[in-house]
Amino acid sequence: MKAVGIDLGTTNSEVAIVENGQVRVLPGEDGDLILPSCVGFSDTGKLLVGREALRQYAAAPERTVKSIKRWMGTDHKTTLGDKEYLPHEISAIILRALKQRAENALGETITQAVVTVPAYFTDAQRQATKTAGEIAGLEVLQIINEPTAAALAYDLRSEETERVVVYDLGGGTFDVSVVEITGEVTEVLASHGNNRLGGDDFDRLLQLHLADLFRKQHGVDVPDDAATQARLLRAAEQVKIDLSSHAFATVREAFLASKGKTPLHLETEVARTDFEKLIRPLLEETLEAIDRALTDAKLEPEEIDRIILVGGSTRIPLVQQMIQEDLGQTPTDGIQPDLCVALGAALQAGVLIGEAVDAILVDVIPHSLGIATAVPTPMGIMPGYFSVIIPRNSVVPVSRSQVYSTVFDEQEVVEIEVFQGENAIAEENVPLGSFRVENLPPQPAGSIQIEVHFDFDLNGILTVTTTEKGKGQQGTLVVNNAGIEKLSSHELKQARTDLEALFKNDETIEISSEDISDAVEIAPELAGLLDRAQQALLTVDAEQAEELQDLLDQIKTAIADNSAELPQLQEELEDFLYYASTNESQE
Ligand code: AMP
Repeated sequence: MKAVGIDLGTTNSEVAIVENGQVRVLPGEDGDLILPSCVGFSDTGKLLVGREALRQYAAAPERTVKSIKRWMGTDHKTTLGDKEYLPHEISAIILRALKQRAENALGETITQAVVTVPAYFTDAQRQATKTAGEIAGLEVLQIINEPTAAALAYDLRSEETERVVVYDLGGGTFDVSVVEITGEVTEVLASHGNNRLGGDDFDRLLQLHLADLFRKQHGVDVPDDAATQARLLRAAEQVKIDLSSHAFATVREAFLASKGKTPLHLETEVARTDFEKLIRPLLEETLEAIDRALTDAKLEPEEIDRIILVGGSTRIPLVQQMIQEDLGQTPTDGIQPDLCVALGAALQAGVLIGEAVDAILVDVIPHSLGIATAVPTPMGIMPGYFSVIIPRNSVVPVSRSQVYSTVFDEQEVVEIEVFQGENAIAEENVPLGSFRVENLPPQPAGSIQIEVHFDFDLNGILTVTTTEKGKGQQGTLVVNNAGIEKLSSHELKQARTDLEALFKNDETIEISSEDISDAVEIAPELAGLLDRAQQALLTVDAEQAEELQDLLDQIKTAIADNSAELPQLQEELEDFLYYASTNESQE
């Protein structure tokens, strides 16, 4: 029996496995190791997961969702077509697609997984992730922190203690963690981040920059419609990626707008230095987070032995340069930054099922946990103070108790309100739940004592137990999550059945790129255009060929889905071929 490791990311997800002592990320049918964390339905109601869903995002946002991870642990509803989904239900679809990817690649059923989450995830978010796994038919052996997984992938196991900064800049989120590794034990000392900062922001800044250049060039704005803006954004991302390996990048987007009957194209060059100017302020924020994490971990930059880069956006040279200047050392490289979390998760899965991989995890709780209390002051009793029972960054599993006394004479009831966070005012933190200890014997203030016990397990589930010292009366609260209920076995079964129904037609997932003309019957006019396009592919230059191929791919999807966008795409293709042929005749 094999168990996989899953990096369930905001932008992208991956699944990896240990086989014969070797760890590898498993590809989809298209050979891609990365599955965009995007889910949608085509206009004919077919489930799309990954790149196919992402492709329709701009044109059909009402049927497509991405970055659902931001909502995990809440009851935020996403409407896709005519149905509403909770965040863990969308995540379950992504996990189910990854499970299927692994099963296709390995030729056997996979039922167990280790899934990673950011170090700062609350227990609501961890529980929602676990539930998503269960719905997808995966027993979640363990939820582990992403920086811990990354450190595991680097196999930094020596007898000496190593202190490592894990800097993770992905598509939509940024985290930095300080991790201590001793032999086989990995411990997260501190972590900080911004879950609204990442490569998507860089794309948007470049998109605006390109729109500015276009306006200066032509005296006309790039049209504000979703399809054109989506093209511009895609071009911006490509420029960004090109600039990671080149000092300049060329953009050529044909037919972005028109002036009367004249089509207008965006043709320009962007220098890496221009791009760096745009993103520098955002990167400076990430350096501040590194400083905060080091302060929390009570370490000076000189005490850091190693820096690990995680996430696709760390391929940007300025990111590496700024970290190097800030911490005074060069980050370690070797493992692809967008795959190392999945690889580490797979190693941990291997350990848990007894494969020949040896590493033990020690994680810490990301936020302080405690209760609201009333404090006697010279002005009287002041309620609403946050009393921390388990401080943040305690190693898990952890159990702590604290004793509290009644504050009023003949107080019969004590309300236990549980919060997580760092603010001294309880209400400013995240409420996790509350319960009452009732029927206390009538006694003077301060004479009844209640012990509050917090038990935080390896999966980040908090159990709160109160014991009244005199009569031994007990109360319990299990905090699974703040926003959603843990599913009953019946609800779980129903959710699984619903999910399986979505997946019944396997072909709907990750459609491979077979020949367009094989797909469905096509109108003769379009068939003629497609023939011309195939010919043009052989004659246009490499960049245009890429653009044309992209357009053909979109048309293929539109044909397969019988999409209403087909006429517009057909028009774009006509324009493209017209433009290519006039260019050719001018040359
Ligand atoms: P991740 O969430 O780790 O998969 O990272 C995805 C982000 O990395 C996206 O914003 C990508 O555009 C970005 N990315 C991927 N490759 C590169 C690259 N070579 N240079 C700059 N950004 C990249």
